[in-house]
Amino acid sequence: QFDVLVVGGGPAAAAAAIYAARKGIRIGVVAERFGGQVLDTLAIENFVSVQETEGPKFAAALEQHVKSYNVDIMDLQRAESLVKGPKNIEIKLANGAVLTGKTVILATGARWREINVPGEREYRNHGVAYCPHCDGPLFKGKRVAVIGGGNSGVEAAIDLAGIVSDVTLIEYGTELRADAVLQKKLRSLSNVTIIMNAQTSEITGDGKKVNGLAFKERSSGETKHIALEGVFVQIGLVPNTEWLKDSVALSKHGEIQVDAKGQTSVPGVFAAGDVTTVPYKQIVIAVGEGAKAALSAFDHLIRHSDS
Ligand code: FAD
Repeated sequence: QFDVLVVGGGPAAAAAAIYAARKGIRIGVVAERFGGQVLDTLAIENFVSVQETEGPKFAAALEQHVKSYNVDIMDLQRAESLVKGPKNIEIKLANGAVLTGKTVILATGARWREINVPGEREYRNHGVAYCPHCDGPLFKGKRVAVIGGGNSGVEAAIDLAGIVSDVTLIEYGTELRADAVLQKKLRSLSNVTIIMNAQTSEITGDGKKVNGLAFKERSSGETKHIALEGVFVQIGLVPNTEWLKDSVALSKHGEIQVDAKGQTSVPGVFAAGDVTTVPYKQIVIAVGEGAKAALSAFDHLIRHSDS
């Protein structure tokens, strides 16, 4: 049995494990893929105090830091359910094993919703991007498209318009779904073109990097191609909470609801990082939230534990 059982292996989980381990208690980390989204990231230039690094390098450093403490890491293990018992919390794994913790920290992160068109996977990190805060500056002075006219797409287009030369916003429906104030701002920008009623059919490239985007005009059925250097897919971020639907309170977007201390609806269960309702999905934020959840779990232990 663990004092703190962390589910996840990204930046939030790593920070939680390190902070909890420093209290000299028993820590377990169960992760499907240690490193998390960072493993899929090329350049990281906004982790404060590290001017520039690469995702896999950053992930290796996370793992090394965690391993420098007495932490039981169970990698390549998927958690499938959470059950709150009278004294402990049980986490059942896909391999049938059941782990128990006096407290649990959920840090299973999120994944960007993919548009699933030819070229998207092939050119991921070679012109196809998902995070304007992270990758926007890589497209300075270049032409980009943003796919998606919801709040995140329109915010991304506004953000990028200040960095890149031209932004084309592609929306599938006949109107934008973003808040009116954002739409107004977007329409005031001279280097933004909005194309509505358009279905992206392909992200094209030269074999190495993106060189354009093809879309079908839904009114005419005609396919058009625009030349550009980058495509930001902004059609949603999906939290990895399918396995928690019946055990922990989630928001309407499926994010774990947490209070200011990272406490979920279940006493003794905390959550941190992209999987929660905390806004702005960034490494530096996930790390801070992970540390906070660990301190909250420790606080819970000293108040509720009889051993
Ligand atoms: P994640 O990194 O998503 O980690 C979740 C962990 O939980 C993984 O280890 C996963 O395997 C595990 N897991 C999931 N489900 C289960 C389960 N059922 N059982 C066990 N384990 C499970 N942010 C920046 O600050 N700067 C950047 O430059 C940047 N660039 C990015 C580029 C890309 C391409 C992407 C995709 C994201 C980028 N981000 C960037 C965002 C950043 O990666 C995330 O905000 C951050 O990784 C969130 O950390 P996390 O620990 O909450 O979740």
